[in-house]
Amino acid sequence: MPETNEGEFLKFANVRKTYDQKTLVVKDFNLHIKQGEFVTLLGPSGSGKTTVLMMLAGFENVTSGAITVNGLPITKTAPHKRNIGMVFQNYALFPHMTVAENLSYPLKVRSMLGAQIKDRVAHYLKLIELEQFGSRYPGQLSGGQRQRVALARALIFEPTLVLMDEPLGALDKKLREQMQLEITRLHKQLGFTVIYVTHDQVEALTMSSRIAVFNEGVVQQYATPDELYERPANAFVANFIGENNLIPARSPAIENNTVTAALEGGSVIRASNGNCDTADSECIVSIRPEKLIIQTNGLKLDNQVDARFLARHYVGDFIRYYFALPNGSHIAVKTLNDKNAPDFTEGQSTVLGWAAKDCFAFKSNTKSIPGEQA
Ligand code: ADP
Ligand code: MG
Repeated sequence: MPETNEGEFLKFANVRKTYDQKTLVVKDFNLHIKQGEFVTLLGPSGSGKTTVLMMLAGFENVTSGAITVNGLPITKTAPHKRNIGMVFQNYALFPHMTVAENLSYPLKVRSMLGAQIKDRVAHYLKLIELEQFGSRYPGQLSGGQRQRVALARALIFEPTLVLMDEPLGALDKKLREQMQLEITRLHKQLGFTVIYVTHDQVEALTMSSRIAVFNEGVVQQYATPDELYERPANAFVANFIGENNLIPARSPAIENNTVTAALEGGSVIRASNGNCDTADSECIVSIRPEKLIIQTNGLKLDNQVDARFLARHYVGDFIRYYFALPNGSHIAVKTLNDKNAPDFTEGQSTVLGWAAKDCFAFKSNTKSIPGEQA
């Protein structure tokens, strides 16, 4: 089949990386990125995200495979000739230079004329709303201001591609949210392509046009934020993105993309097929806490199971409940905090229900479901 390259800007084809000639930390990495996209690599610590950026920037060599920009391989191009802007969590500004001098630096090394440099620096100081801070030293700025200067320094030579590796990791929550807005604003305004790395899924979901979920050196799914949340490709993604109940089930049978499977203790449930196949003797069923309905009296739902009340936690805007299913699995349910949010006594029985379209059956490849991460 001929490949269509329309709108295709950056391409990783079968890229692999080993540092020790034994283990591949990046395995057959394939990704196509269009010009102007904001693509995030999201994955647990140690999954190879930084390694991918380092190969793209030219600070690490590629063990095998190809990286191309506009169809041309860049693997042999020296890092400073790749015209890529970079922001890292600990990408220190030059402490002995003022903010304006820090911003001038990438332009000087590119031999821009003095008068042009002055105008460009003034423009970018304005963009990051630090017009009055040009003559300060980095040590005289707050963490957030320093990170804005680092961002401007990565953008000032107007690269078409900007790499950001956990750029907000060192900032507190409020500042991080402000900087997320700042980065997306500049991205929209200036139109560069971003490859962003984070292990914070909320950050990824709110900022990205597409997300590549990464685990053990392999892309698990590459999709828009809502596709990832609504249609996870496998149990790893279902578990990693957002909150999910994962319930083991047996003997999945598949018909027209609907899976029926048995929970231990007897109930048969219906789910949409994620990635089960008929040969599987076990599967994992995922159902998000906000898709579960408590007390199903009178409602026609694809799935209804008996449940025993364990706990009710008040979270402010919503209430979180915990129930035990007959098979012993614990299940979390979220409902809005309104007058309909029910109350139970400990051990009380009820029925939980949900639609087959809201839950998915996946291969129970336990190896791909790591524990909770920090
Ligand atoms: P992430 O950014 O997703 O946390 P990294 O790309 O930093 O992951 O690391 C992936 C794996 O490669 C890890 O097991 C890490 O220990 C290893 N690694 C990273 N950099 C080097 C290096 N320079 N030399 C040897 N091993 C490395
Ligand atoms: Mg990293």
